[in-house]
Amino acid sequence: MSKQGRLALYCCSLPVPALAALWWLRDSYAVWPSPLQWALAVCALLIVWHFGLPAAVGGLRSMERVPQIALLLVGGPVPAALQCALAAVAFPFTHAAYRQNSWRIAALRALNNMSMLSLMMVAGWLAFDALGGHLPLEVPGWGDLLPLIGMIVSMQSVNIVMLVGYHAASGRPIAKNPSALIDDADLLFAPLGVLAAMVWLHLNTLAMLLMAGFVGIFLVSHRASGGLRAKAVASATAKRSAGLSGAQRLDRLAEQVLTEVRETFVFDEFMFGVLDRKLDQLDFRVRLNGPERLPRLLRPRDQGLFGWVAANGRSLLVEDFSKASPALRERTQILGQEPGSMLIAPIMDHEEVVGIISVQHFKASQYRDHDLTLLEAMAHRLARGVADARAFEELDDLRLDLENKVRERTRELSELVRERDRLLNELREKNRALDRLTREDPLTELANRREFDHALTREIAAATRQEHSLCLALIDLDQFKQINDRFGHAVGDQVLTQAAEVFRAHFRGSDLVARVGGEEFAVLLPDCTLDDARQRCESLRTAYAAHDWRSIESELQSTLSGGLVLWRGETGSRLLARVDSLLYAAKQEGRNRIVTEPAEAPDQTRERPVDAEASMSDAHSPASGD
Ligand code: GH3
Ligand code: MG
Ligand code: MG
Repeated sequence: MSKQGRLALYCCSLPVPALAALWWLRDSYAVWPSPLQWALAVCALLIVWHFGLPAAVGGLRSMERVPQIALLLVGGPVPAALQCALAAVAFPFTHAAYRQNSWRIAALRALNNMSMLSLMMVAGWLAFDALGGHLPLEVPGWGDLLPLIGMIVSMQSVNIVMLVGYHAASGRPIAKNPSALIDDADLLFAPLGVLAAMVWLHLNTLAMLLMAGFVGIFLVSHRASGGLRAKAVASATAKRSAGLSGAQRLDRLAEQVLTEVRETFVFDEFMFGVLDRKLDQLDFRVRLNGPERLPRLLRPRDQGLFGWVAANGRSLLVEDFSKASPALRERTQILGQEPGSMLIAPIMDHEEVVGIISVQHFKASQYRDHDLTLLEAMAHRLARGVADARAFEELDDLRLDLENKVRERTRELSELVRERDRLLNELREKNRALDRLTREDPLTELANRREFDHALTREIAAATRQEHSLCLALIDLDQFKQINDRFGHAVGDQVLTQAAEVFRAHFRGSDLVARVGGEEFAVLLPDCTLDDARQRCESLRTAYAAHDWRSIESELQSTLSGGLVLWRGETGSRLLARVDSLLYAAKQEGRNRIVTEPAEAPDQTRERPVDAEASMSDAHSPASGD
């Protein structure tokens, strides 16, 4: 059967013995209360349950025995039980935390409490009656002390037994030692219950009001001082934590815990840890071994006794370690001297374990149940602070993580930008090279035919606009085929390369030297007279013939022939046709010469007819020299 089913069965079966017992006592002493008294009784019970004394564990140490005992002594067992039962049914409806947001729990708790209170009344009455007590209550003498004590003790006993029953049915841990279940306050307030009954029965309403007033003032002042202390602690903690990082907050909190534990316990070892969700480990922030502080320690969250406490959310008291079960001893990781006794309490935030506190002593029996209760109370108080500090620390870590990621991405981005710039430069370089290739002859690095055609058009336009002269020379290497044939193509290439050097050396920066065919060169000389141009070409020719060709091949010799013309306002193709014919003449006349047309020669092509209207490139075919 499930835990919930078991608890429901238990709670639903409880009213049976309770009703049976009340039925059995139906003829006992009974004074049936007036409706006003019913209301007062229920209110009194609700008030003590709501506003009892604040306690470290379990919320309240109620003063419930005061109205319970008073009702029993005033009206007898059956009316008292029914009044208590009514209040027990009403209570969960007036206390949201008690019903834990569940009407099912409210109903089960109401059933359990009404039955328990009825049985307590029955037990109290039976003991009172058996020990010679009698009602109606007279002003008691010493002889009445025993029945009253018997009544109080038997009520308390039923209370304890039924609390254990409820815990067992709900699957919650049951204290090993009944002393942990006895709430001292219950017994402390029992005499006040007897006094309340006597005041109600033998004095007047004013006396009752005075007593109620005293109890009320006592309660209020007690709660107020407790509340003030809690507030002072909270605000001091908040002040100390303001402006601290998450890790600092947790460390500060750990120190506070240590201070508080020092004030409360005698110990040889102390440990305070928080559960690190990211690492899934217990992070022991403060560890003390005698006076020595040990460094921070990370341990798997399920390891050892701490792991057991963290996994089960249950505190642990080992009174005498030497007598502990082998299983427990096996689980314990002992670093130095074996502990005598130890306490471990989980710090729980909304059912979730967020940390652990532990004290250990080398002496056995140093710690008892009430010490565990104290440590649990401390853990309970700390829960919110630890959960907050831990959440803050996790946020802090997240922020640092994000900052690192942003830094990393920024670095990657700047690397990408650098790479992009490098590629762009490379692209620009390639474009420049490509551009050069479209304009340049790769062997001689002179302008190519295409560039020459552009330059010719451009220079004719400029010469027309600025009315300056323009000369054009077309030069062809002599018998180049023979050089190739005799010395090889590679030597031919070298001759072409060195020829380009000689050309470069003989013309101005403003002149354009281009390789327009295999071994044919054109030179455009803007703003240059025909005489000047002739001198330059002649000087080129002699320098070329005198060039040290033997440095390439011992028997190598080379000369060149050329035609030279002055532009006379005609189109590029006509100009080219004219110069081509002069080159042809130079070849015909025996090579190694520059042929210039006479100064005022008519504009006509000689020797070789050329279609003057054809496009420049079509019109010009490199002189073959034959
Ligand atoms: P001519 O004096 O009448 O001009 O005789 P030539 O032998 O120089 O003229 P031809 O037109 O008969 O031969 C030109 C030769 O130039 C043919 C060709 O193999 C060679 N040639 C053309 N371009 C290149 C080149 O880039 N490298 C080499 N090594 N030879 C080339
Ligand atoms: Mg040639
Ligand atoms: Mg040629």
